[in-house]
Amino acid sequence: MENVHFLPAGKMGKSGSMDKLLEPFTGCGNLDPTDLMAVKIHPGEEGNSSHLKPGEVTEVISALHPGTSRIFLTDTTVLYPGKRMNAPDYLVLAAKHGFTPPDTPPFVVADGLRGYDELEVPLPGRDGRTAHVASLIAEVDALVVISHFKGHLLAGFGGAVKNLGMGCASKAGKLIQHSSVKPVISENRCTGCGICAAHCRADAISVRKTARIDADSCTGCGECLDRCPTGAVRVSWNRNMNAFMTRLAEHAWAAASVSRPVLFVNFVTRIVPNCDCMADTDPPLVDDVGILASIDPVALDKASLDLVTAAPPSGNSPVRAGAGEDKFRAFRPDIDGELQLRLAESMGLGSRNYRLAEVSH
Ligand code: SF4
Ligand code: SF4
Repeated sequence: MENVHFLPAGKMGKSGSMDKLLEPFTGCGNLDPTDLMAVKIHPGEEGNSSHLKPGEVTEVISALHPGTSRIFLTDTTVLYPGKRMNAPDYLVLAAKHGFTPPDTPPFVVADGLRGYDELEVPLPGRDGRTAHVASLIAEVDALVVISHFKGHLLAGFGGAVKNLGMGCASKAGKLIQHSSVKPVISENRCTGCGICAAHCRADAISVRKTARIDADSCTGCGECLDRCPTGAVRVSWNRNMNAFMTRLAEHAWAAASVSRPVLFVNFVTRIVPNCDCMADTDPPLVDDVGILASIDPVALDKASLDLVTAAPPSGNSPVRAGAGEDKFRAFRPDIDGELQLRLAESMGLGSRNYRLAEVSH
């Protein structure tokens, strides 16, 4: 059973509170001064406002007092057109969101110019399947994963496991994970409004009388599911979700196994129902919970989920789920987000059993 250290929201921002939270991890495991330490973040899609903030990331790094100054921020490119699809555009967006020197360590894209730099990792006992991890993740001497814990279109919620699994995957790895999620249109529900097509970043939807999805162009991002006002976009979740979550857990295991993860930190704040890949931001499901840290990504996400479940809904929450109810499940009843943690646990990535250690002052 792993410790998950917890700084409640009420103590955040107080002098020395982050130092106290991260005291057990000071030094990040005896790094040499010449070691290269990557800090995996998600700097946010253009137009998103709920993403991690530069000050939050630098506060974590300062409190860790790593034994090296060779520190950089990193993330991978994505599958859909926009400002995160190739390295030069991504650097410009990261800088626009404040992730650039001198305010933060430099930002480096982990999977190369176009997302093809990768390491193919065999998955033991998985019928010869492999995972595709960004090559930089496998090269660094230490990896700190800082995640913003919030809802997600396909995974139910996203925290450390998703940041490892999807966030450290190359483009091929992301495609493998999404390939099981190909939505279809229910014609009798479709009004032909075109909202889905307007938001499909892969240009995979055409609309005449009703919408039609070109499965070859579809990247399986899931955005049309969320955008359709009539519920006409459908996915066979029982079959597809299991496959998606399995690939996600496999890629998380692979990223951790080829790298040297030294710490996972979840900011359980601005807990919106959608991920930071979305250009807009909904009201939060619950008020800020706090910041959690552990060396076990599964325990960390389970503790984060339990705290969000235990919290009452925020004043303007988009769901009515009360204290003790799973807010992410209430927002997306078809998606069992905790499945990712059960699968990750079964692969040996971590344990859902944890001990919550609250910062004492
Ligand atoms: S899941 Fe929907 S929005 Fe995403 S690429 Fe496929 S058709 Fe487009
Ligand atoms: S958003 Fe829904 S109703 Fe509108 S065109 Fe797309 S599938 Fe049809």
